[in-house]
Amino acid sequence: MRAVMLTGPQKMEYGDYDMPHDDGHSVIIKVDTCGICGSDIHYWEIGMGMNGKRNIILGHEFCGTVYLPGSRSDLHAGDRVTALPVDPCGECYACQIGAHNICIMANKRNIIGNSVHGAYAEYVRVRPDMVRKLPDAVSNKEGAFIEPAAVALHAVNLAGVRSSDTVCIVGGGTIGILCAMWANLFGASCVVIVEVNSFRMSFIASHITVDGVIDGYDTDIRKKLKTISQGGFTVAIETSATDTGLYTAIAALKPRGRMVMAGINFYGQPVPTLSLIAKEITVLGSMGYSIDEFDDVIENLAMKKLALEALVTHSVSLEDVPVVFNNLAQKSIEAIKVVVQP
Ligand SMILES: [Zn+2]
Ligand SMILES: [Zn+2]
Repeated sequence: MRAVMLTGPQKMEYGDYDMPHDDGHSVIIKVDTCGICGSDIHYWEIGMGMNGKRNIILGHEFCGTVYLPGSRSDLHAGDRVTALPVDPCGECYACQIGAHNICIMANKRNIIGNSVHGAYAEYVRVRPDMVRKLPDAVSNKEGAFIEPAAVALHAVNLAGVRSSDTVCIVGGGTIGILCAMWANLFGASCVVIVEVNSFRMSFIASHITVDGVIDGYDTDIRKKLKTISQGGFTVAIETSATDTGLYTAIAALKPRGRMVMAGINFYGQPVPTLSLIAKEITVLGSMGYSIDEFDDVIENLAMKKLALEALVTHSVSLEDVPVVFNNLAQKSIEAIKVVVQP
């Protein structure tokens, strides 16, 4: 099959690779659409997947049609499906308390597009119980958004956003924008995005319903955030994983505010602890999503509650993927979401 393999640091190779092995149990999906995620760019930089996995096909935000239904007797060839790329063990402490998203064994498990081959390929093999049928009302491009939309939903759920909340989202990439959409859907009275990239700022201003887009580099940012929120935010969701972003999120909060950290920084970050203490801020880490949240996204998409297709700024073919990763890493193309359609 045609696929794109990560073969070394900043090195991807498009070519002919072996089809996923049919073990009679797993479901093999013919990929229709796969989104490019920020974490894929990180893996590309270092030339390996999760746990140092080399020669791996990335891609974990996908949908397609059933090629082989494996042990899923309710599925038939050609059914439109997506799948959770996760592989919780079901036995560890986290899994036992229902937190499959933070399975302690995750590093040793088969996470699609992270530690086992993913969907920058014509076919991908997935765990049968993780496959979900796609309702007719959900398009293929939307199908590739279910995974990141679930990541954002988890962050917004952890923050407990409701109508009395004012929400400051730091970082206006895909996850930040999706957090804003969920916060709106949950009835937040004010939703503001802080972003530093001018393309993203104008994209958000023209495509997304928010109460404001604030320039993260504005020297007057704290005053502006206070004015727009009429005194400060009750919730901050940090998606940029930058030190400045973290400081901005904490500064934006009112006393007893809640901060959810949804961006991943591999190197550790300094935290203004005095501000956290003086304002009694609650800090919550957010990782992935629950199985229920993934299903919630599908339901909301089927009911047309989220308009995600507008976020697709680029659609490319498999053979373009190596060049697209170069361009994304060097920021020579301005994108919100790039999807790959083999
Ligand atoms: Zn992702
Ligand atoms: Zn587990």
